[in-house]
Amino acid sequence: MDLFEYQARDLFAKHGVPVLGGMVAATPAEARAAAEKLGGRVVVKAQVKVGGRGKAGGVKLAETADEAETLAGQILGMDIKGHTVHKVMLAQTADIADEFYCSFLLDRTNRTFLAMATTQGGMDVEQVAEETPELLAKIPVDANVGCDAAKAAEIVAAAGFPAELAADIEAVLQKLWTVFREEDATLVEVNPLVLTQGDGATAGVIMALDGKVSLDENAGFRHADHAELEDKSAVDPLEQKAKEKGLNYVKLDGEIGIIGNGAGLVMSTLDVVAYAGEAHGGVKPANFLDIGGGASAEVMANGLDIILGDPAVRSVFVNVFGGITSCDAVANGIVGAIKVLTDRGEAITKPLVVRLDGNNAVEGRRILNEANLSVVEMVDTMDGAAARVAELAAR
Ligand code: GDP
Ligand code: MN
Repeated sequence: MDLFEYQARDLFAKHGVPVLGGMVAATPAEARAAAEKLGGRVVVKAQVKVGGRGKAGGVKLAETADEAETLAGQILGMDIKGHTVHKVMLAQTADIADEFYCSFLLDRTNRTFLAMATTQGGMDVEQVAEETPELLAKIPVDANVGCDAAKAAEIVAAAGFPAELAADIEAVLQKLWTVFREEDATLVEVNPLVLTQGDGATAGVIMALDGKVSLDENAGFRHADHAELEDKSAVDPLEQKAKEKGLNYVKLDGEIGIIGNGAGLVMSTLDVVAYAGEAHGGVKPANFLDIGGGASAEVMANGLDIILGDPAVRSVFVNVFGGITSCDAVANGIVGAIKVLTDRGEAITKPLVVRLDGNNAVEGRRILNEANLSVVEMVDTMDGAAARVAELAAR
């Protein structure tokens, strides 16, 4: 899960990485109020999950709260590389003496963590890597040791940071590693990491002026507080509903709804349906849902409800192989699900093609036949069912 900059800033602050005060706003009026609270000159920054906001005009300095309101009005609603700006961050500003870059990331290819750092901050790190790769230090970080004082010193030396800044940058690197480790991140990137200038307490300080953080969702169970970092507005409502019901649902762009039990069966069903669709005008899977091991009436009703909630669906393939859950239980699940949905006033009108095989298949088919449901058609083989569901979707 990628975070917005303001969320990354909050995590940095939580772990003691030096950042400037910031607040988030969704309207120009909120931006004005935030600017007044922060006081003095502020920077107004578009909150979108894409880099290069500065160049796109999404980062602007405001001398007064009035100006912050005006700039927020310009930046909110802006499109940056296909991302609409719904929020801006207002932050206290720094006078910048120098801009650097540093990051920690999961290096999957080399099965380790990696630190990257360069004195060439502010610009795209991809550009540095391309044009002056000798200026981009890449240092593996052992998961068992992490970024301790020695590793931080190694990174600073490899990047060629000025000697008089070494101690400060090393301290910040160790704090950033704490963010990476404690929050179970796969990326923590700071660009620019700045050296401030001017007079007063904030001169000559190393701080993070921008932050990019990706969290490892597999570690979500360790972080109850990460759930609220999710950008609900960007999630497909059906995917959200499926998640709440504990079902794995994925939206695709075809016409055939797919329900199966088990990831392997569902994946091969997608292939078989896509292949069968070629003979019927190129119809394809519209989505898929893995109901997992259990196929009770309730699970099946939730599954059908989600699959049929997708307006692109014209026909549905329920492909179940009875293993631990036997086919009679699945058949009762389907009959029950259709009743549940009908009772809810959501009677099914789209055709369902059901293929039941495996444990107790004969009894399962008998139950479905006996229920005599007009929308359900049974086909004995997976290939036959795929061809039939494609034919129905093409009508
Ligand atoms: P990005 O373009 O999406 O990476 O957004 P950044 O947050 O990195 O901002 C782009 C550039 O704006 C930075 O490299 C800085 O030069 C500048 N910038 C950001 N915050 C401040 C600030 O507080 N003061 C000043 N003077 N410049 C800033
Ligand atoms: Mn940046």
